[in-house]
Amino acid sequence: MEDVIIGLEIHVQLNRLQSKMFCGCSTAYHNSPPNSHTCPVCLGLPGSLPVINRKAVEYGIKVGLALNCRIEEETLFYRKNYYYPDLPKGFQISQYDFPLATQGQIMILGDDGIERDIRINRAHMEEDPGRLVHAGTIDRAKYTMVDYNRCGMALLEIVTEPDLRSPKEARAFLDKLKSILEYLDVFDGSLEGAMRVDANISLKGGDRTEVKNISGFKGVEKALSYEITRQRNLKRRNIKVVQETRHFDEVRNITVSIRSKVEAHDYRYFPECDLAVMRIAPWVPAIREALPELPDAKRQRFVSQYGLTDDHAKSLTSEIKVANFYEFVAGQASPKLAAVWIADVLKGELNYRDRGIDAFRAEHMVEIVDLLEKGRITEDGAVAIIRELLDKGGSPQEIVKSKGLGKAEDETVRKAVKEAVAESAAAVADYKAGSERALNYIVGQVMKKTRGKADAGEVHRLVKEEVDRA
Ligand SMILES: [Zn+2]
Repeated sequence: MEDVIIGLEIHVQLNRLQSKMFCGCSTAYHNSPPNSHTCPVCLGLPGSLPVINRKAVEYGIKVGLALNCRIEEETLFYRKNYYYPDLPKGFQISQYDFPLATQGQIMILGDDGIERDIRINRAHMEEDPGRLVHAGTIDRAKYTMVDYNRCGMALLEIVTEPDLRSPKEARAFLDKLKSILEYLDVFDGSLEGAMRVDANISLKGGDRTEVKNISGFKGVEKALSYEITRQRNLKRRNIKVVQETRHFDEVRNITVSIRSKVEAHDYRYFPECDLAVMRIAPWVPAIREALPELPDAKRQRFVSQYGLTDDHAKSLTSEIKVANFYEFVAGQASPKLAAVWIADVLKGELNYRDRGIDAFRAEHMVEIVDLLEKGRITEDGAVAIIRELLDKGGSPQEIVKSKGLGKAEDETVRKAVKEAVAESAAAVADYKAGSERALNYIVGQVMKKTRGKADAGEVHRLVKEEVDRA
């Protein structure tokens, strides 16, 4: 899709903070009644004054550094003036000149299979508006309700350069960004509305449209794909793409026009006179020092420290929780075997059930890898144990016993082989007459005697040995 040009603006809620951006209201509103986490400041009542949440600024700097940005010496807030029902003050406290962070980049895997940097134009701080709840779809709602619980939450707006070439690359970028934010422990992506995306999209040579407020990564991919098709169809019919803002309707899976850019807003930005300029340069060294190991660095370390393939290392480091889970297991059982069983099997079983790594105990994985390494269970047995643990619970040892998944002991197998060979004179004769396949019958007899607990390959070897010796 080399003619597609996509840039993203991502609103990230710094929802691991305890309180909102400019007041003391708690951020834990997600299961509360509407309008229960509010105060005069976040409701914009006359005479109320904002106070900067220092931790929020520190989190912003942390993210800026992790996105390889330049951090400004000084930064300040502006008033972005517009009227909308979810914004009770009539302006949003945001940033304009001298944003917190500029000129960064992060690496993604491009559609061509090559990793490359996507440039970040800037990251700035602002407060979240409230939330409008439409009765029905946005263009047809009879009425709309407003909930100010979200109003005043600390937001970081991250703006990319138009470096993305397909919906899939946009998705890859968002996955990487989410991964970094969770590594930094400033963000919980599982909460509703934690990350909202505006996408600018155009075909080379055409005007661009902006699709606003898409929630969910699947939504971004769908909205962009729809918009590309729509613009291509217009181009084919020689109709000019109108530069406008569109809304993604998740119910109908289409984008609809909400306003044309001709009436573009003039926000009349001016410095927020109730807040002082912050000199943040002196904070940076300590924050940089305390940055955790980030996904790319961890991936490289997993390759060199545990001897993993790059694919396994990438799969195991994309989520911080999975990376920690892996390192716990690798510390107590075979690191290579653990990588295979966590990246290739456990993650698949979790995905299939739409569950996260929290649904599985790392101690259980240690046991399973240990049993596999010692040859006590077969690979099929290990898969069965993982499924049983996820669906019904219990412990690996119990499941091995109750389901009879333990591999038969060597002596039992040898005894069964001897018996089966003695009882299968005809098959032995066929084999000696040149029929290699005759052995399969004897292997089948051994499997029956050991009730399937023996390893078929191993039994085949033992049977051949026994017959050859006879
Ligand atoms: Zn408040």
